[in-house]
Amino acid sequence: MKRYLGAVLPALLSVILFGVTVFGFLLPEVESQIIAKKREMIRELTNTVWNILATYDAQVRGGLLDKDEAQRRALGRIRALRYGPEGKDYFWVNGLNEVMIMHPYRMDLEGQRLPQFKDIKGKDLLHAFVDVARQHGEGFVSYYWQWKDEPGQLKEKTSYIKLFQPWGWVVGTGLYKDDVEAEMRAMNRDMSLVGAAVLLLVTLLSGYLTYREMRAEGERAAAQEVLRQTLDKYRAVLEASPDPVIVYNYVGLVDYVNPAFSRVFGWRADEVLGGKIDFVPDDEKEATLAAINAVYDHPDGLLSFESRRLTRDGRARNVMVSLAVYRGDGGAPLGMVVNLTDITSMKRSAEALRESEEKFRSISANALDGVVMIDPQGRITFWNQAATAIFGYAADETLGRELHPLLAPPRYHADYVKAFAEFGDSGTGKAVGRMLELVARRKNGQEFPAELSVSSLQLHGQWYAVGIVRDITERKQAEEALRQSESRYRTILETVPYSIAISDLRSGANLEINDGFCLLSGHSRQDALGKTALDLGLYNRPEDHLTLRDQLERDGEINGQPVTYRAKDGRLLECLVSVRRFVYAGRPCLLSVAQDVSALRQAEREQARLQAQLQRAQRMEAIGTLAGGVAHDFNNILQAISGYTQLIGGHPGLDQKVRRYAEDIDLAARRATDLVKRLLTFSRKVEPALQKVDLNRQIDHAVAMLERTIPKMVRITTRLDPDLKAVKADPGQMEQVLMNLGTNARDAMPEGGELMIETQNVRAEDLSPGAACQLTADEYVMLRVSDSGMGMDAETQKKIFDPFFTTKGVGQGTGLGLSIVYGIIEGHGGRISCYSQPGQGTVFEICLPVADDSLTEREAPEVVTVRQAQSNGETILVVDDEAAILDVSTELLQGAGYKVITARCGEDALEIYRTRGQAISLVIMDLGMPGMGGQRALQELKRLDPEVKVLISSGYSGDGPVKDSLAAGALGFIMKPYRLGDLLEKAHLAIQG
Ligand code: ADP
Ligand code: MG
Repeated sequence: MKRYLGAVLPALLSVILFGVTVFGFLLPEVESQIIAKKREMIRELTNTVWNILATYDAQVRGGLLDKDEAQRRALGRIRALRYGPEGKDYFWVNGLNEVMIMHPYRMDLEGQRLPQFKDIKGKDLLHAFVDVARQHGEGFVSYYWQWKDEPGQLKEKTSYIKLFQPWGWVVGTGLYKDDVEAEMRAMNRDMSLVGAAVLLLVTLLSGYLTYREMRAEGERAAAQEVLRQTLDKYRAVLEASPDPVIVYNYVGLVDYVNPAFSRVFGWRADEVLGGKIDFVPDDEKEATLAAINAVYDHPDGLLSFESRRLTRDGRARNVMVSLAVYRGDGGAPLGMVVNLTDITSMKRSAEALRESEEKFRSISANALDGVVMIDPQGRITFWNQAATAIFGYAADETLGRELHPLLAPPRYHADYVKAFAEFGDSGTGKAVGRMLELVARRKNGQEFPAELSVSSLQLHGQWYAVGIVRDITERKQAEEALRQSESRYRTILETVPYSIAISDLRSGANLEINDGFCLLSGHSRQDALGKTALDLGLYNRPEDHLTLRDQLERDGEINGQPVTYRAKDGRLLECLVSVRRFVYAGRPCLLSVAQDVSALRQAEREQARLQAQLQRAQRMEAIGTLAGGVAHDFNNILQAISGYTQLIGGHPGLDQKVRRYAEDIDLAARRATDLVKRLLTFSRKVEPALQKVDLNRQIDHAVAMLERTIPKMVRITTRLDPDLKAVKADPGQMEQVLMNLGTNARDAMPEGGELMIETQNVRAEDLSPGAACQLTADEYVMLRVSDSGMGMDAETQKKIFDPFFTTKGVGQGTGLGLSIVYGIIEGHGGRISCYSQPGQGTVFEICLPVADDSLTEREAPEVVTVRQAQSNGETILVVDDEAAILDVSTELLQGAGYKVITARCGEDALEIYRTRGQAISLVIMDLGMPGMGGQRALQELKRLDPEVKVLISSGYSGDGPVKDSLAAGALGFIMKPYRLGDLLEKAHLAIQG
């Protein structure tokens, strides 16, 4: 019932509303508007008529018409004027004098003065008009008048009047109230009709709507029920669904969302139920709407499409939207189930896949390496530009062809098959790439080294082998060059005579060493690698390590720093060390180069020593030359002194005193002779007569002599090696050495002290290095003479071996003693050194080479004793440029029974021998003579008589001339000054032999 009322009531209400509106408000308003409009109309019409009067009046004033005529014509025109709904409305004219001048429907009243003319309400009409005209000139006047042309009917009327002043006329026209009312009535009637029609229509419409509403309501309730049941049935499924699901009802409101929806999009169910979800991005709205419309038309009611949806916090998700319409029993759609599958990640991976494919394509297309792909049948399916550049084949020449026959030189075919076998056709899908080097062949047949990396790739369910090929010709060349340069450097490293070590900068551990290092240090490579120099005990003074480190820190490098290293066997090595920092095998390292300069230093020292020795030798040589120069003449003089003295001494019946004088002169002469001999000795003008000598015996002999000459305050002790080896020496010279050293020691100990003489056997290697390199023999005898005397300072020590250097007073020292000792030792191939300090005594050490077995031991020559050898009256030719010598010799020889012929020079001697040669048994000839000289004379004599017997006599025993003479056939040699006995003996022996 209520429902029907609901349907009718609106209709009824709308009709009432319509009526009230139209009749209550609209029509009264329309009426007043109509009245206003009509009043305006009559006002304007009155003005029009007024203008007609004005026009005629103008003509009167212009003299065109006279006044009467003009008024007549004007009235005529006005009388004819009509208007209104029936064309019966009119104009009238009155005079100010209240005369009715013209009225179209009351001509009977025209010309009458009508001051008492009243309407039914008693209103003085004309008077009212005139009043308004006089007061206002124009205006409205309401009154009652006959209905248009019907005088019998009186009706309410409103007129507008206007005074035309020049003529004193009042014109007017009126409108009847009835006319307006009639109009209103007609309008009311129309409106009522419309109202009825509206009422009918609205009633019909609302009835229909109510019906529709009622039906829909029923259906909706049914659908709701169906949906509820369906939802209950599938709720579990929907709740469990990983995809967001939304169920909309037919009007598009949310009935259900599942937990996945809340999870993915963020809205709780209670936030969206019964409403709409605003989660379609603007740019997807159109497509979504179209899809929703389409799905209702779709025969299956199913549709899916890809789209995007926004989460509650505004993030866009890519979704696959599936729409399904569900319908009621009658097939009417009840709503829609929307399933949203989140494909964001799927999309992303698809995108990634596409991108990676794109990347692969662009990388392989632009790659510098050739990229080749083969299918399981070994046919090329991919070939990039770089492959073309490498092999010379364009892609279309290779695609579809078998790889191995095309690119592998026949003899490497098997290698290729093997390389690719694990991939591709076996289908095991080993994705791990492998690097291998192969020889490949270009289109032009050229072969080249290639690096191949093979991996597998699954495409559309098939395994392909992908090969990445690189032309490594250049790299190979570079490697070869590197290898060569490395081997070059290694060769250099191993060949240079330096020790080279590369060590870690921080730890100092050796990373690399060369053979030179092992050679120098004595450590094996195994020992040295990984160890530091300190570990190896390489530094003789460990503080050197710190010095080097500081220097490196300061200067960044070290150049030729002298360092003493200690080899493994303890040998000390003088080295020059250079160090550089550099990077080796990727880490900061030190390169240390050491040059062993021990030998060099030794050589330098030796050189300095030799230099000094040479200088000394040169000085000796000079003195020797000087001595040799005077020796000849000096000896001749001494020969004369000595000879005459001996002759004097041998004189029978000589006064005893005179005889002693003669003997003293002879002694002095002999000492002079000795001095000359010493000069000649130290300058080595006298060859030592080397033989096996027992030095110990020589020492005993010398000690005996020294004890006789040295004061008792000096104690002489000996420490002699009983097993002392024999030395190769001149015994006389050895005696001289001992005597000289002994007297020097005595001189150094004026207050007394100890003189010690020692001997011992030594081996060359036991001697200090400086000595060893000078000495050539293996075994030596060491003679050590030490005293506890005053000693010497270094300055003095430097000069002691110099000839004529002495610190002793005039007449006390000659400065020749040590010079002679030095000369003798050098002449023996030995060495002498002196150690001394002021106040600490002095030690002389002498090394003499041990005699080998080739030498025979000889007794020291006996002191010559004059034996009066008797002659048989033979003739001797004495040749000498010295008259004194000839004199002395002649006397001596004649005294011995010889006949003597003398010659002053070689030429004379030859002359004599030529004439009296048969008679001459012996020639005694001086070597140094003016003219041809002894040497030539000897040769000439030998030519005259090969059997000639010649004795050479000389005051100068320079080796050469004597040796030459002996070689030239002289029987012997006799040194001047000679003892007379000596001469006789030699002469005798020569004549006899
Ligand atoms: P001389 O003995 O005539 O001075 P030497 O050649 O024998 O000449 O010696 C040279 C110098 O060497 C001596 O003057 C002396 O100064 C020094 N000398 C030599 N032997 C010794 C020694 N045993 N103690 C101190 N000084 C010495
Ligand atoms: Mg001396």
